[in-house]
Order: sequence, then structure tokens, then C-alpha cells
Amino acid sequence: MTRAQAAKLFDRLAAALPEPRGELDYTNPYTLLVAVVLSAQATDAGVNKATQALFKVADTPQKMLALGEKRLKEFIKTIGLYNTKAKNIIALSRILVEKYDGRVPRDRAALQSLPGVGRKTANVVLNIAFGEPTIAVDTHIFRVCNRTGLAPGRTPHEVEQRLEKIVPPERKRHAHHWLILHGRYVCKARKPDCPACVIRDLCAYKAKTTAEPAKTPAARKTRQSRPRTGKTGATKATKAAKNARA
Ligand code: SF4
Repeated sequence: MTRAQAAKLFDRLAAALPEPRGELDYTNPYTLLVAVVLSAQATDAGVNKATQALFKVADTPQKMLALGEKRLKEFIKTIGLYNTKAKNIIALSRILVEKYDGRVPRDRAALQSLPGVGRKTANVVLNIAFGEPTIAVDTHIFRVCNRTGLAPGRTPHEVEQRLEKIVPPERKRHAHHWLILHGRYVCKARKPDCPACVIRDLCAYKAKTTAEPAKTPAARKTRQSRPRTGKTGATKATKAAKNARA
């Protein structure tokens, strides 16, 4: 995709959703970090359900340490991999208290040195909590970038590097949210909703879906007048035949 086409693509996504927001609930950079760590291989809705009660009692690293790993697990046991995630959250909270005065560092290397925090999580925190123009490539963004041809790549890192080059500077702040929401609700993994897609003319995906054929009155009439088949119909017909023979 050319730069001009990419600019058009983001113009359209921006027009459709001028103020995009992520779907994870948080109250400060620390709770955002915890929510993103919990969201690995879990749904945002599932994470929000668990953190609603958790963040009422532990919205700072100090409070999380006071809560302790065992009680933390009680709050997050509905989330996949909760044992490992609880361990990581307690360990990263301890580092934040000991090394960063209880604050989340605005620094990629420092973030990625925390347990359970990879490049994607660091990008999300830098983007949402600190307004940095980073783009975290998750499964939705990876799919959208490859299908559309916006930023094709074999790995999330490759896609991220291409996005760095092709996303217009003024769109970088929100690019992450536009692409993720587009992938989650329109360009879905199993059946993309191409007829309703605002960027379909810019998209290079060859297997675009088409609208279901309209159900004309004639088609409905033909279906209604068709003789009944299948198990129920056959059984009734067989019974009727038997009764007639008796
Ligand atoms: S046209 Fe279809 S495949 Fe292309 S971005 Fe839109 S929904 Fe995805």
C-alpha cells in the first residue's frame, strides 16, 4: 500500500471513530499495566470483570504487595494463566516500589525488564498511559495489516516496523486503537464484514466477503411450497402409509 493510500485509510477510520478508546478498564498507569498483563490470552471483558473488584482494594503497587499473591489469585482466578500472572504482578509491583518509587516508568527498556511485560504490553502502556505514538501489534492488528496490505509482515515486530514507516505522524497516537477495533468488530478473523467495511476499496485482501443474497418474495414462496423432507416428514409419510395399509 502506498503512503497516500495509508493516509486515506486512516482518514476513513478516524472519520468513523474520531475518539477511539481501548476496552480495558483502568484508573491510573499502574492499573493499566496490571490490566494489560492480565489480558494476555484473555478477553478484555473477562479482565474487566475481575479487575472491577481487584482495583478497589489494590490500585497501587504498595497495596498490591499488601494484598499478597494468595489473595490476588482469588480475584483473578477466572482469567487464564492466573497463577503465572499473579506471580508476575506481585514481582513487578515489588520492582516498581523498590526501583521506581512506586511509579510506572515512561521508558520502554525499563517496562520490558518487568516480569510478564513484553514489547506489546510496553507499547500499550506507553501509548495509553503516556500518550506516546507507539503501536502494539496484537493478533487483530497483525491480521488487518496483512490482509489489507497496509503493513504486511511475518512477525508482529515486522508489522510494527512497517507501521512505523507508513502511518502518517498525526495518526500514530490513535493508530493502535483504530486498527485493533477494526480487527475486532469488522475485519474479524473467521468472517470479515467486507460489505460494511469503510476501507474495502483500499484493501488488498483477495477473499473479501460479499453481502448475503437478498431473500426475494419469489425465493421465499418457492421455499414455502417445497414438499417437506427430512426425518420428521419422512416419519409422518411412513406412518400414513402404514395406517393406509392396515
Ligand atoms: S475489506 Fe474485508 S478484508 Fe479488507 S479490511 Fe475490510 S473487512 Fe477486512
